[in-house]
Amino acid sequence: MKKFIFIALFLCVAVPIGVVYSTSNNISFIPEKPLQGEPVMITIDNIDLSEIDTATFDGNILKLFVYNNKVSALAGIDIVKKPGDYLISFILKNGDKIERTLKIQEREKAEQVFSIPKKLGGNTVASQKSLVTSLAQENAVLNKLSTSPTILWKDKFIFPLDNPIVTDPFGYSRKTGGYTMTHKGTDFRAKIGTEVHAMNDGVVLVASVGRNYGKHIVIDHGLGVMTFYLHLSEINIKEGDLVTKGQVIGLSGQTGYVTAPHLHLSVRINNISVDPMKFMELFQ
Ligand SMILES: [Zn+2]
Repeated sequence: MKKFIFIALFLCVAVPIGVVYSTSNNISFIPEKPLQGEPVMITIDNIDLSEIDTATFDGNILKLFVYNNKVSALAGIDIVKKPGDYLISFILKNGDKIERTLKIQEREKAEQVFSIPKKLGGNTVASQKSLVTSLAQENAVLNKLSTSPTILWKDKFIFPLDNPIVTDPFGYSRKTGGYTMTHKGTDFRAKIGTEVHAMNDGVVLVASVGRNYGKHIVIDHGLGVMTFYLHLSEINIKEGDLVTKGQVIGLSGQTGYVTAPHLHLSVRINNISVDPMKFMELFQ
């Protein structure tokens, strides 16, 4: 009897080992079919990070890490990326190539008229113009930011507020006069002075004040991931500081281009803004 159990166990363990490359290196996507503006977690089964030469998404290099014991990568899908099929490709050091097509779906378009608060000039053509010009200047600075080549975060990301209630979602267009701007973040209900927490470990890249973004913080979590916290009333950290997940980095407020107190959160992957609520769903 003992001999039989030993042989059965041996078979169970031994059979899958011989078929590693062709059938068991499944590439998985969360979500399976992302929309424009959503992040994707890409994982590949039964392979070691050291066996991979490069991985690409639509020809762009993916930054790889190990999460839940699997080789993984995060990709951001630009909100204006054309819907359709895109190739995810892993090239192994032994020359093998493992590929799968990612289907990007179209996001439904939504538009809302947005007014300019009195403190920024109200709804005049002149203040619309200065809003657009100054936003472009602030974005030019933030678009130049780059992240650490090593991973700084660990485990799951957490929400920046203890009680995250969405008041304004990611991805719709705000129409102000003749201009249309996309809301590239999520707004959360937060009365002035609510504690804002770092969503994960990282380094403070920006702790600054802008006309539109108000007092704002950007944290670099490494490997292309950054989180942005805007319209704060107080900043408790300085540029270059190391922060840990959950640390209070500032207090929410209503500084900059806002009509009411709230916390605006943006998440970027390789400088592409993605839906923060969908980003949170990636970390199971
Ligand atoms: Zn916002």
